[in-house]
Amino acid sequence: MTMSNRLKIALDVDGVLADVMSAWLARTNPGRLVPITTDDMDRWDFWDRLGIRRRDFYTELDDCWREWRSVPPTEQDLAGAVSSLCKLGRVDIVTARSADTNPFVKLWLDWQNIRYAGYVSVPYGAMKADLDYDIFIDDSPLNAEAFLKKGKPVVLYVQPWNACVREEREEEEAPRVYRISSLAQAAEVISSCGAGSSTAGHMGSDVR
Ligand SMILES: [Mg+2]
Repeated sequence: MTMSNRLKIALDVDGVLADVMSAWLARTNPGRLVPITTDDMDRWDFWDRLGIRRRDFYTELDDCWREWRSVPPTEQDLAGAVSSLCKLGRVDIVTARSADTNPFVKLWLDWQNIRYAGYVSVPYGAMKADLDYDIFIDDSPLNAEAFLKKGKPVVLYVQPWNACVREEREEEEAPRVYRISSLAQAAEVISSCGAGSSTAGHMGSDVR
């Protein structure tokens, strides 16, 4: 594997670029006696503990995307942060969702002036790990586990539901988790780890 290979970066949407949970709270809370807050979202399947069925939860998320202008960005200047990432390699949007929401997500990305090379949609998050990327930027603790199992490093966008993911590695050679609290840090983390240089093996194809 040569170091000249361009780094392939997979960038998630929900929970990394799009604050879809805020849109969901705004949609779901008016019908509830006890409002749900971000404090309730301290694990991936928090909805289960609140008595919400998985199917209903994901249907409501899809409904939020149908009104894509109601979905706020996770932070200001996402466009700038993604553009910094694009200088480090090929950045594809890699998202797990119902296929019928893809058009809305693409409109939203345009709306946010986010530029990317390719757009890949899979039905289930864990399927991302089988795709040919060197590094994943994601917020799902389940996906993070799947990436690490495949020997791929993860830049984990910090959210209440992924607080359980540990950064420490059991072995020095094992792929690791890099926690970031803003997307601008993703480019910093990837470049400081030497993407495209002699230490690219930590984050790039050599770990496979
Ligand atoms: Mg996500």
